Amino acid sequence: MRWTQAAAIRRGFYNAVMVDDAGESIELMCHRCGAALTPGTGSFWIVRIEAVCDPSPPTIDPDESIEELAAEWERLLDEMRDLSEQELMDQVHRRLTLQLCGRCYREWIENPAP
Ligand SMILES: [Zn+2]
Repeated sequence: MRWTQAAAIRRGFYNAVMVDDAGESIELMCHRCGAALTPGTGSFWIVRIEAVCDPSPPTIDPDESIEELAAEWERLLDEMRDLSEQELMDQVHRRLTLQLCGRCYREWIENPAP
């Protein structure tokens, strides 16, 4: 059985695996080994990864003066001043979607952070 377009959309996979941003059909390939992937065969996996930087607030030294704290904030703002909104976002949050063939998925899932 092959996926229909409507079924793929309902499953939320359409944008991830069936078309590119321009709506053109794309050939699916395993992101790890490059093997061709065929929708509807159950032979590959969609892996969604969301990475979020440590959301804990910074530790503030109670002995640090307000001037030292202000200087530290100013230094951080200086570091960020020339970065684009996307670059700033990439420093704290990344979302990836990978397609892996069955063989690569089985190897990866057992050791995703070597
Ligand atoms: Zn593969």
